[in-house]
Amino acid sequence: MAAPAAGWLPTTTMSRILLSHGAGGRDMLQLIEDVFRSRYSPAGVSQDDSAVLPLDEASLALTTDAFVVSPLFFPGGDIGRLAVAGTVNDLLTAAAQPVALAAAFILEEGLPLADLERIVLSMQETAAEAGVSIVTGDTKVVPRGSADQVFITTTGLGRILRPGVSGAAAQPGDAVLLTGSVGDHGTAVMLARENLLGAAPISSDAAPLTEIVLNLIRAGVAVHALRDPTRGGLAATLNEIAGQSQTAIQIQEDHIPIQPAVAAACEALGLDPLTVANEGKMVVIVPPGEADRALAIIRGSRYGERAVAIGTVLPGPAGRVQVRTAFGTARLLEMPTGELLPRIC
Ligand code: MG
Repeated sequence: MAAPAAGWLPTTTMSRILLSHGAGGRDMLQLIEDVFRSRYSPAGVSQDDSAVLPLDEASLALTTDAFVVSPLFFPGGDIGRLAVAGTVNDLLTAAAQPVALAAAFILEEGLPLADLERIVLSMQETAAEAGVSIVTGDTKVVPRGSADQVFITTTGLGRILRPGVSGAAAQPGDAVLLTGSVGDHGTAVMLARENLLGAAPISSDAAPLTEIVLNLIRAGVAVHALRDPTRGGLAATLNEIAGQSQTAIQIQEDHIPIQPAVAAACEALGLDPLTVANEGKMVVIVPPGEADRALAIIRGSRYGERAVAIGTVLPGPAGRVQVRTAFGTARLLEMPTGELLPRIC
């Protein structure tokens, strides 16, 4: 491999990787821009969650995600369910029907085989639910201490059903829809990890959202943008879309569903539920005239029963996300910074 060209050091002032570089917020975006996008293919690497590959017959979507969640098992899911749902949902954000998945496992010496089997079964069940198969994979085992139990990388291939769906395609006037409550996954994993006994039980929302997205596309809804609010939560997702599309987004705080137990846990942990990861939710941006129909379709689909309209896309200022409270006041919702919650997915 050739030596890197002069000037290869990232513009970030940090000389080592920090936990915040994996948190889904500003530091991670900067790392991706400075270290990866600038070298791989500045023009070609998408800022969306899947790359779009135009071929002769059909356009394909390609995405990959690594999963390092701790603990491996938590209420509502496990690393296997996450590894499938996360990659499936990233394909769906490109309005792509999942076609096939590949899974690579890094296993730590000493991992109980029963744990691996439980994870693999969960992956198989989640893939079946999403209507996709895991068709190839890889297994590596590293010495005890070189990894923590199991890390999984899942790659997904999808066939694009509706071209042009992208965070960059949000337009002023569009309605911003959310398929359900926020903060469930992140708080569920945190409570499980910290073993906070006595805390109200919270289940992760980890789920493949195939039915919601395919129902929207097949009904011909003119979807502009889809994005799953995972790391960095709703705050990161809305900031990404506002930045990509050079629009502003305004949301109504009291329209955002937050389960009482999640709100209480976030309060106790000092977290803003709008920055906490979700693994079974989608932000759906549609033209204003399509909002009611889209909402009805989402609510009639699995995992979309609690869908709501939370806001509107505005012409500008570009990249700004504003939250209006029930009292009529407004605050900026910024791209999250700092380390947030490591090993949440
Ligand atoms: Mg995503």
